Amino acid sequence: LSFDQMGLKDDLLRGIYNYGFEKPSAIQQRAVMPIINGRDVIAQAQSGTGKTSMIALTVCQVVDTASREVQALILSPTRELASQTEKVIRTIGDFMNIQAHACIGGKSVGEDIRKLENGVHVVSGTPGRVCDMIKRRTLRTRAIKLLILDESDEMLSRGFKDQIYDVYRHLPPELQVSFGFDTPFWVGWSRVLLLLMVKSGWVE
Ligand code: AMP
Repeated sequence: LSFDQMGLKDDLLRGIYNYGFEKPSAIQQRAVMPIINGRDVIAQAQSGTGKTSMIALTVCQVVDTASREVQALILSPTRELASQTEKVIRTIGDFMNIQAHACIGGKSVGEDIRKLENGVHVVSGTPGRVCDMIKRRTLRTRAIKLLILDESDEMLSRGFKDQIYDVYRHLPPELQVSFGFDTPFWVGWSRVLLLLMVKSGWVE
């Protein structure tokens, strides 16, 4: 499967090729289409295999830039990963004028407020800060249709479970959720459990 065969927006394809990608990596070949087609996907791949870029390009594809509302939210366990994802989105989404913002702890809240009130299409952040922005009603959630939990295994082991659920319950009921995992251990019975936990209320 080539990028051309994925039915991506022209301006997004330009962004992808301009970024220097020629053909999709294995995880991109398998996960991009199901996510774009609206399915809840659990993608397991080690870091460095193109998972972050996969998330970035699916998000660019599903966002409608004619609207200025936040339509996709990505949660990551670390500030570095959240910023990295936001950067890739901005870079490959450059030709489509996508507005992305990294909502992470350690940065000024004022800057978050200013950016979010200006209108962004995508937010990539860490659970704590995102939760804070939602509670302040600076991050409006009503148009969010896609939630991506990147490195979900890492997020769970860092104890973000309650914060993730706190974010989740502020999101619209018709929500598509995708999970990224690093460790193969989680891919088995536990992925089903995770999906159920997030999609139907967090079970202890
Ligand atoms: P990621 O796991 O998305 O952070 O990707 C790891 C590295 O591979 C990064 O330097 C990406 O820019 C690069 N990369 C990701 N996808 C592709 C691709 N389809 N073609 C070439 N390089 C890629």
